[in-house]
Amino acid sequence: MSDSYKFGMVALLGPPNAGKSTLMNQYLGQKVAIVSPRPQTTRNRISGILTEDDSQVVFLDTPGIHRLRGKMNRFLLDSAWSALSSCDCVVVMLDAALYAAKPHLMDKEIEPLVKPVKSSGLPVLVAVNKADKLKDKAEILPVMQKIAEMFPDAEVYPISALKGDGAPELLGGVMKHLPEGPPMFPEDQISTVPLRFMASEVIREKIFYSLHQELPYGTAVEIEQWDEDAERGLVTIHAAIYTTKKNHKGMIIGKQGATLKKIGTAAREELEEMLEMKVHLELWVKVRDNWTEDTGFLRGLGLGE
Ligand code: GDP
Ligand code: MG
Repeated sequence: MSDSYKFGMVALLGPPNAGKSTLMNQYLGQKVAIVSPRPQTTRNRISGILTEDDSQVVFLDTPGIHRLRGKMNRFLLDSAWSALSSCDCVVVMLDAALYAAKPHLMDKEIEPLVKPVKSSGLPVLVAVNKADKLKDKAEILPVMQKIAEMFPDAEVYPISALKGDGAPELLGGVMKHLPEGPPMFPEDQISTVPLRFMASEVIREKIFYSLHQELPYGTAVEIEQWDEDAERGLVTIHAAIYTTKKNHKGMIIGKQGATLKKIGTAAREELEEMLEMKVHLELWVKVRDNWTEDTGFLRGLGLGE
């Protein structure tokens, strides 16, 4: 590890479809580490950890920040914005190809970001994405001009998150704003494990609600299979619900499987929101005596030491 190791957090903001997740994957590549340091606060926040020899950068993706409505969601929205306060800089991600074709959308889609971003007081970098889609590169100029007016203090980077063009330059810009500090996460933090844990928590929560808040003691959820098909935007998840008693199994399954079906539907909907992918979810209920005593099994569930 070098003496001047850098650690920092970057908030990734932008309208849906701007390319936030694509950028994260571009940076994280095979090492993709989409995790949540604090599962209970991450309903609408997914982070990716990029660890290099001299730096560790945590990207906080804020999916759905623009789609939230209603009172509960107002709260979530506030919490999403408050995530900014723990960050060292903000990357605003915008779809340049969209705005080159439809400049009138810029006010509607970008304006709501301007004030909260500004009041965060953080350095702002604007990634003008999907540059590869523009046939004539000059088309990007009026878009850049308008962005410069909206974010006068920002550094603006034309990029293609998909192809990677401009991505190193943007990352270099981000690095300049990160403080020195040691890494907060192990460098081999594996991608899907914490995400799987979050998914099992979502399923557990739905069991809890479906059973009218009487989650039988000793109910656990284990993700048995997790297959991502990025091309189709589909993740197939097989999860086993463990109970210690046969009658609990019956309760969870319900009459003609009605309760389990309800659990599955609610969990799938939330997982789709969380993962921003289509989810194919299969649930099984299994009885396993004394699993709560079995430390090896607990470890497999991400619980215990
Ligand atoms: P998010 O909603 O901001 O996370 O956006 P996504 O990363 O899910 O991307 C939305 C869509 O835009 C996907 O179909 C991506 O493949 C596409 N996309 C993202 N970045 C680029 C880019 O740089 N060029 C092109 N051509 N497509 C992109
Ligand atoms: Mg996304």
